[in-house]
Amino acid sequence: MKFQLTEEQRRLRDEVRRYAQDVIKPQAIELDHAEEHPTEILSDLSDRGYTGLTLPEEYGGMGEGMLELAIITEELSAVLMPVASALALHLGVAEAIQRFGTTEQRDTYLPSMATYDTVGALGLSEENAGSDKSGIETTAEREGDEWVLNGHKQWITNFLHADYVLTYAKTGPEREGPHNITAFLVPTDEFDVQETWDTFGARTVKSPRATLSDVRVPDQQRIGAVGEAYVQRKNLQTGVNVPARGVGIARAALDDTVAYTSQREQFDHSIGDFQGVKWTVGEMAQRVDTARLLTLRAADRADRGHDTAREFSMAKVLATQAAVDNANEAMQLHGGIGYTTETHVERYLRDARLLTIAGGPNEGHKDTVGDEVYAEHPRGASDHDRDI
Ligand SMILES: Cc1cc2nc3c(=O)[nH]c(=O)nc-3n(C[C@H](O)[C@H](O)[C@H](O)COP(=O)(O)OP(=O)(O)OC[C@H]3O[C@@H](n4cnc5c(N)ncnc54)[C@H](O)[C@@H]3O)c2cc1C
Repeated sequence: MKFQLTEEQRRLRDEVRRYAQDVIKPQAIELDHAEEHPTEILSDLSDRGYTGLTLPEEYGGMGEGMLELAIITEELSAVLMPVASALALHLGVAEAIQRFGTTEQRDTYLPSMATYDTVGALGLSEENAGSDKSGIETTAEREGDEWVLNGHKQWITNFLHADYVLTYAKTGPEREGPHNITAFLVPTDEFDVQETWDTFGARTVKSPRATLSDVRVPDQQRIGAVGEAYVQRKNLQTGVNVPARGVGIARAALDDTVAYTSQREQFDHSIGDFQGVKWTVGEMAQRVDTARLLTLRAADRADRGHDTAREFSMAKVLATQAAVDNANEAMQLHGGIGYTTETHVERYLRDARLLTIAGGPNEGHKDTVGDEVYAEHPRGASDHDRDI
């Protein structure tokens, strides 16, 4: 077994890292404070082809897999997490069209999504459908060749700069759940924005709440089979971006802490000389490594076509908690200056805090891991059939 990226993957990582560190990081504090959407950065990412990273080459994409998505996401999240989420949510909508759309839908949307001329956003959550999507109240009723949508969506990341929202709506009675939810590609201008929220972190990319009132969409905008959208969604793999975002913040917090504690002197020593600091920094590095290993393992299994439920949820819980813990330690070890907006550290902590909640709260992912473990070992037998 080789714990090693390929030559091409390393080249991709180095290329993204250079751009992220040289171009994004110097403006990250300012963009965050101004709550300014990273429009130019996303346009640069599109020029580099990353907005079509995981799309097949026949649609103008780069034809890369989830490992490459995890690699790119870590680098972007290490400098400004919301840039990574804007890119990943867009690629997630593209993945749904690619996997479940018709040939015509793929031909219509994917080439312009690869170039970022068409931008996607995800409309799954609602006020009463957070962790539990069976609570979706938005409805879609069929009228001839059209569907009439009513309801609202909440936390639609990218919405203000997107063209379409992949909107999940109830199309069947409760007793048919979860086979009663269908997805539609709804133009953003059909929604009315109700609330843009003032959030603790992730301040450069807004996630508004918006309503739909008797919005008609043709059946050609339905993505996937009627009633099967939520079930199909579980097969999407771009969700690996969430733990990868955690790895990015955990790593950035470590890097900044090592740099700061190496040069900051108190009691005639650099504070990195103190055993208490060394142990903390060592633990921070352990968290980065375990978070990255679990994330890349989940991505690799996805690319090899294996089941990822257990691995993805493990990575999500561990990597997002690593981001929170490392950002918190980084603030402590930066002392007073870490508590100010002069350094990146306070933003790491605010941005990291989102990750244990969004993408499904960690508690739900812990349930998944537990369920998967019991399903694997029904009689307590040690039946490990996985490589790693
Ligand atoms: C900034 C931001 C961006 C987002 N972007 C998007 C997006 O683009 N598209 C989209 O559709 N959604 C998005 N979301 C929604 C996100 O996925 C939900 O916030 C998340 O699923 C949790 O739902 P909730 O906030 O309603 O929390 P709730 O479901 O009300 O849960 C509240 C808390 O209860 C606890 N809890 C929940 N379930 C369990 C359980 N099974 N066991 C134990 N404890 C539990 C957890 O501590 C959880 O944090 C975003 C959210 C935020 C804040």
